[in-house]
Amino acid sequence: MLFTLKLYPNTIWGKHFIGNFNLILNHLQQLRIRSIIVPVFQGSRLFFPVEGGSENGEWDLTKFQHQCHDHNIAFIPEFPVFHDPDTFDTIPQYRPVNLRGKAEFPSSWYKPICPSNEPYRNYRIQLIRDAIKTFDPLLVSLEFLHYPYLPEIQAFDKDGTALPNYCYCDFCRYQFLDYSGKPNPLDAIDDWFQFRAENVTLIPILIAEEFEKTGKNGNMLVQIPPITPPQVLEKLRRSTGQYLKQWSGLVEVISPQFHLFQFDISLQWIESMMSEFKQLQKVRVIPEIDLPAKATPEDLKRLEEALNYFVEQQCDVVSLFHAEPLFNQKLVQKILEKFAE
Ligand SMILES: [Zn+2]
Repeated sequence: MLFTLKLYPNTIWGKHFIGNFNLILNHLQQLRIRSIIVPVFQGSRLFFPVEGGSENGEWDLTKFQHQCHDHNIAFIPEFPVFHDPDTFDTIPQYRPVNLRGKAEFPSSWYKPICPSNEPYRNYRIQLIRDAIKTFDPLLVSLEFLHYPYLPEIQAFDKDGTALPNYCYCDFCRYQFLDYSGKPNPLDAIDDWFQFRAENVTLIPILIAEEFEKTGKNGNMLVQIPPITPPQVLEKLRRSTGQYLKQWSGLVEVISPQFHLFQFDISLQWIESMMSEFKQLQKVRVIPEIDLPAKATPEDLKRLEEALNYFVEQQCDVVSLFHAEPLFNQKLVQKILEKFAE
């Protein structure tokens, strides 16, 4: 089994590594990590130089990418598409609106911007194009490619019949009127789901066009947030706008987030989701699991069970969230060692 690891800029430049790329890379090699997924921007902050842009100082991932290649570690740039704390804070009109018409979002860290917001979407796509030109990657990872979605609440909607909690902002309403001729999405719910799915799928379409222009056969991995089975494909379409069946031939890899510890996701839950994903055509699944913050013996057992299950399912790659709990814990490292190729 090959492991890919999510590594965040605040870990790379944080207190422990202080931007010492060699130290990180030696760690990664010891742990037999073969590829890493790294956000190349967060909010409006870029970790790569752009023409005419402001100075990034030492926080430049292009240098890190070069060193990764020297160490035979694949560098996968991640684009957090519709999550942007800076824009959320500075432009209140861009905040998502809930079913009750309130522009509020109950999360301390996740600050979504609505995919119906065309000016924002254009800005984000341009940023992604710049990143693709800069990093020239074979694979990119798209995180938060969905409508504002709260897994803590919505993932547990067992029958999946509830209306999405988000988004009913002015961008959603005006654009939907334009799209369907109907002013109220709640009176035309099927059109509404279709409208949302098209706005989400537009992003991979535009990225595929960008890859074509660069002449490189680049691919996309899209991260799928937690959702309760059964009927996850339909629930994802309704709650998040991720219409996986529409992505066939467009998105090569999906990476469902099976967060064993954060969301207490059981093995049965994973099995059920994996069997639904198998119905999808031409899509490869790279499951993502989280690592426990302070592993108890019970946590380690669950981690090992999940990995054994992925071996049985012949998953050749598993994504790990994230570097810090791995670097900090010898017992977690020991378990992964048993599975690493
Ligand atoms: Zn909206």
